[in-house]
Amino acid sequence: MLNRLFDNLRTAAAQGIRRIIRRLIQWRQNQWSERHLRRLRLTPSFCPKPWLHAHVDAQGARRLCCIDIARLPTSFAECSKPLDEYWNSEEMRDVRRRMLRGEDLARCRNCRSDEKNRQRSERDLALLEFRDWVPQIVAQTEENGSTTLRPIDFDYRSAVCNFRCRICTPRSSSALQAEHAAQPEIAEALGPWAGLGNHERQQAESLMDQYREHELLRAVELGDLRKIYWAGGEPLLDPVHTKVMRNLAHSPKASAISLTYNTNLSRLRVGGWNWLESLMAFRRVHIFVSVDGLGEIGEYLRTGFRQEVFDENFRELQAWRQGRSRQVTLDLTLNLLNLYHLEPMMDFAIRERVELDAKLMIESLANSYLMIELLPRALKDRALETALCAIDKRGRPEELLGLRRTLQLALSRPSWEESLSPSEYQAKCARALRQWRAFEKLRPSPTTLQSSLPETAWGALPFSQPSLEFTGTHPDQPPV
Ligand code: SF4
Repeated sequence: MLNRLFDNLRTAAAQGIRRIIRRLIQWRQNQWSERHLRRLRLTPSFCPKPWLHAHVDAQGARRLCCIDIARLPTSFAECSKPLDEYWNSEEMRDVRRRMLRGEDLARCRNCRSDEKNRQRSERDLALLEFRDWVPQIVAQTEENGSTTLRPIDFDYRSAVCNFRCRICTPRSSSALQAEHAAQPEIAEALGPWAGLGNHERQQAESLMDQYREHELLRAVELGDLRKIYWAGGEPLLDPVHTKVMRNLAHSPKASAISLTYNTNLSRLRVGGWNWLESLMAFRRVHIFVSVDGLGEIGEYLRTGFRQEVFDENFRELQAWRQGRSRQVTLDLTLNLLNLYHLEPMMDFAIRERVELDAKLMIESLANSYLMIELLPRALKDRALETALCAIDKRGRPEELLGLRRTLQLALSRPSWEESLSPSEYQAKCARALRQWRAFEKLRPSPTTLQSSLPETAWGALPFSQPSLEFTGTHPDQPPV
C-alpha cells in the first residue's frame, strides 16, 4: 500500500518536472524567435517567400503564397503561366523591389498585425523558417528585382474536394463550386473565375496540372526541392499529388524532402496505393488534420465529414505517427459555432496527445454568417473567456497551447458592430443573413445553427431584422 503511494508520488513528481522543463524550453524558443524575427526583418514589409516559395492556388493562378490577395484571374492566359515565365516576371520583380524598399503591399494584407489570423503571421513563420537564406536573398537579387535564386518550397494546389466545408470557399472546393452555382444568393462567392467558359476553364486546369507535375519533378532533379506543402481541395483526391508522390517515394532524394499536409482525412488510400506507407521515405512529415468539431458539430461545419470514418482513419494515422520525424496536428478554424463546442475537441487532443492548433476564419463571400465578429463584443469575449478557462481547468496542457494563443488573439478583435460604420455593418449583416438562409435551404439537416448555439448567442445575432432581406443577384463586389 505504502509502496504504491510512493510510486504514485514519484510518477507525479517526474511528470511535473518534465512539464516544467518543457515549458522552459518553449519559453526560451519563443524569446529566441522574437529577437531573431526583429533582426531578420530587412524592412517592415520584407518576406522571403517571393524568393524561395512557389504557389499555385486551387484555381491554377500563380501567387506569392496561399494568403496573397492579389486580384483573381479572369482569363485563361492569367491562369496558365509556367513557373519559368512567372518567376522573374515584371509582377514578381516589382514585388521584390517594393519589399526591399519597405513599401507596404496591399496583397500582403493578411500578414499585417491587425489582420493576421494566427498569433504568428505567415510572414513571421517564413522569416523563421528561411532565416539562413536572408544573406543569399540580398546577394542574389538584382536592382531590377530579378533573382538567380530558384524556389525550394512548393505549395501547388487543386480544387478537387469531396467536402463542402462551411468555413471554406468555392474557390478551394469543386464540391462547393457546384453548390454555389445553383444558388443565386451565394453565387457571388464563385468570383470572376466563374465567368470563364467551361471549356476554357478545363483547358487552364489541365495545363496547370501538367505544369505542377513537371515543375515539382524538375525541382527534384535540379536538387532545389526542400519542402512541399500539399493542401487543396483535398490532396488525396488530386491526381497530380498521387503521380508526384508515387514517383518521389522511390527516389533517393526523398530523404532530403520535408512534407506538410492539410487533409480532411476522409481517405488514406488511392486505389491500391497506401499514402501513409509512402511517407516513410521522406525526411520529415507534418500532417495537419482539418477538423472543426466532433460528432454533429463536425458534420454540420464540414459537410462530408463522418465521425466513424474520421475515427477509423485517425487510429491508423496515430499508429503511423510513432516515429521521430512524424508530426500530427489537429487544425481547427475557429468560428461562431465551434466556439461554443470546443471542450470535446480539447479532450480529444489531450487523450490522443496531439496538438490542437487553431486559426481565425478569414472572411469570404461564402462564410460571413460564421464569423465570431457577428456577435456583440461582450458576448464574443465571454464565450472566448469561457473557452480559455476550460483550458486552464485542464492544466493548460501543451496540446492546447496553439488553441489558447488563437483564442487570445480573437479576444483582441473588435466585433463588427464596433469596428464598422452603421451602413457597412448593415451590409455585412445582410450578406451573412443571405448566406445563412441559402445554406439552410441547400443543406437541410436536423442540426442547425440555431439549435446548436446557446439561446443568448442565437438571439444576439442580427438575423431577425426585416431590413436585411436579399433583393438582388449582384450584391457588392468581392473583397477577395
Ligand atoms: S508577406 Fe504574407 S502575404 Fe505576402 S508573400 Fe509573405 S506570407 Fe504571403
